[in-house]
Amino acid sequence: MMTPLRFIPFLRPMPWGGERLARVLHKPVHPNERVGESWEISDHRLHESVVADGPWQGRTLRDLMEQEREAILGAPSKRYHRFPWLVKFLDANDWLSVQVHPNDQQAAKLAPTEGGKTEAWFVLQAEAGSRIYAGLKKGVDEKKLRQALSSGSVVECLHSFEPKAGDCVFLPAGTVHAVGRGILIAELQQTSDATFRLFDWNRHDAAGKPRPLHIEESLACIDWSRMEVKPVRVPGFSTERQQLANKPVHQPLVDCDYFRIEYRALSEPCDLGGAGKMQVVQVVAGSGKLGESTMDIGQTWLLPAAMSPERCVPDATLGLLVATLP
Ligand SMILES: [Zn+2]
Repeated sequence: MMTPLRFIPFLRPMPWGGERLARVLHKPVHPNERVGESWEISDHRLHESVVADGPWQGRTLRDLMEQEREAILGAPSKRYHRFPWLVKFLDANDWLSVQVHPNDQQAAKLAPTEGGKTEAWFVLQAEAGSRIYAGLKKGVDEKKLRQALSSGSVVECLHSFEPKAGDCVFLPAGTVHAVGRGILIAELQQTSDATFRLFDWNRHDAAGKPRPLHIEESLACIDWSRMEVKPVRVPGFSTERQQLANKPVHQPLVDCDYFRIEYRALSEPCDLGGAGKMQVVQVVAGSGKLGESTMDIGQTWLLPAAMSPERCVPDATLGLLVATLP
């Protein structure tokens, strides 16, 4: 009964969103709508993902986590009541706020209905001149950051770099970060919506009001040792070209307490899933077949721990992000 699962994407219009989720990742976006996020897999109370097709079509991930937790998660199921990850695609057409997330202990105090939030980004596309802010510049401490907050020069305290397609950025809870402008990313994070806004680029909403900031909560969560975060790069990655056609690639990207992520480029048929381990697979380049189903860029698959391995046949090259539980 256990088969690979796909869910109906939950598309969220955002002032900073764009058209890449429709154009590049083939999401069903209404024309003229600027969508910032596609929630691909969510067991967060803001949205419970619904199975898109197959034998479990119409059931929610919440329901499956109640009824089939061990079949889905495998041995780690005892540790999780909710599905451990929120999996998204994100189109940062404009700047997202400068923000920080709490760890599990800080969240228990500062955002009691949420858990901690460690996250990782994989850059699918980045326009020239776009930037990622991640971590503090060397020598920045709480006193310097407070001064910068009062003079409106926060970004001068933050490390930044120009991202390229194929960059993976690991953002443990406590890492100050921001992303913009013209960046399409795949995002995997702990199931949590605990976000503290440190700076919002002096912007105002449609009613002329600034969005609320959470300065003290942010400062309480910042990991002051987290400086100059650098990406792990997948050389030659592109959503458009099929560059890796003649050699298989298995590149580890992130290994932390909450998830392991690796990049795989497949050019020959192989088996995916099975062996008692749950996998979440995001298709970030190319197309192919998974069993009888079509695999295409922009899809996210949950391969339950209890399923048998499924044959995956790439059309040319398939670029996959594969996440597993430690
Ligand atoms: Zn974040």
